[in-house]
Amino acid sequence: MTRPIRARIDLSALKHNLAVVRGCAPQSRALAVIKANAYGHGMLRVAGALAGAEGFAVLNLSEGVALREAGFKQTILLLEGFFSADELPALAEYRLASVIHHAEQMEMLEASGLPVKLDVFLKINSGMNRLGFKPEVFPSALQRLQSSRSAGKITLMTHFSTADALKGASEAEGVAAQLACFDGLAAGLALPRSLANSAAILRYPETHGDWVRPGIMLYGSSPFGEASAESLGLRPAMTLESGIIAVQALRAGEAVGYGATFRAASTMRVGIVACGYADGYPRHAPTGTPVLVNGVSTRTLGRVSMDMLCVDLTALPDAGIGSPVTLWGDGLPVEEVAAAAGTISYELLCALAPRVPVVEI
Ligand SMILES: *Cc1c(COP(=O)(O)O)cnc(C)c1O
Repeated sequence: MTRPIRARIDLSALKHNLAVVRGCAPQSRALAVIKANAYGHGMLRVAGALAGAEGFAVLNLSEGVALREAGFKQTILLLEGFFSADELPALAEYRLASVIHHAEQMEMLEASGLPVKLDVFLKINSGMNRLGFKPEVFPSALQRLQSSRSAGKITLMTHFSTADALKGASEAEGVAAQLACFDGLAAGLALPRSLANSAAILRYPETHGDWVRPGIMLYGSSPFGEASAESLGLRPAMTLESGIIAVQALRAGEAVGYGATFRAASTMRVGIVACGYADGYPRHAPTGTPVLVNGVSTRTLGRVSMDMLCVDLTALPDAGIGSPVTLWGDGLPVEEVAAAAGTISYELLCALAPRVPVVEI
């Protein structure tokens, strides 16, 4: 028997979630976002499951090369583009498309003398103020790109900062201002467009354009604080599961774990689970974070340590050493665990540690 922790990756859930994308955006091609090792699910594994997508989006040249070498023929987009001119020959050789978001990249491209034209996603800063050309410099950037000998197909792109915010919430703006900015610049240009992340795919059909860029929804997690993945028709692709490796009987007043932050008010049974922050479980998850034991909902107790965490078995007399534990996934949405830990599902999924064995189902 080995340490019982494992991450189960459900390939049929990935395919199902891509079908949900199709249902939302039937006219658009899908650029499946598989950066960050496919949000912790395994880049090549996910690309294989989502081979029906027309494209993949990653960050690094090495990831694009790995996808090509694995035989994927789709569009592959580098979401931050190239970082220095020395990457350009490989982008050309492996036919990788590049975001271009600042003038220095434009200069590198012009100076490259590439033997082939690179497909380019020209990024507009429509208000997020992270990457992209500001509206006032966009027309000249586009003109410059169109007259460059090294630029091939050009797609116009932007990214939303508040597509996930609840409509009507005071600080939330949805996508209206950014969309108006983008549409104003793109009007009259016969160029393909790419705007929508998962939240926009699900909530704002007017943003779908030619290429949608689903990330989190492909993994079966909701991008919205107030809408569950299940209510959106999504199925979790990752289930993190482990088992109980020890049981402690606490008397009133006894504590469990580092810092003795949880102290029993009365007699209780505590299960020790083989999962800790070195596996990717959030250390900041407080006492009370939801967890399933034998499929039944209970709570964590005390601090999460590197290799273990503690759960309340007081109401689960049948649970003991060997009982299965679900940290998140099937039966326990990762968003709920993330919310308890003060973060978002993206961070938990991406943080799955390399030491956790992965099994595909
Ligand atoms: C990560 C990313 C996405 C996917 O976002 P989700 O919220 O996970 O759907 C889309 N577009 C860009 C530019 C990204 O960086």
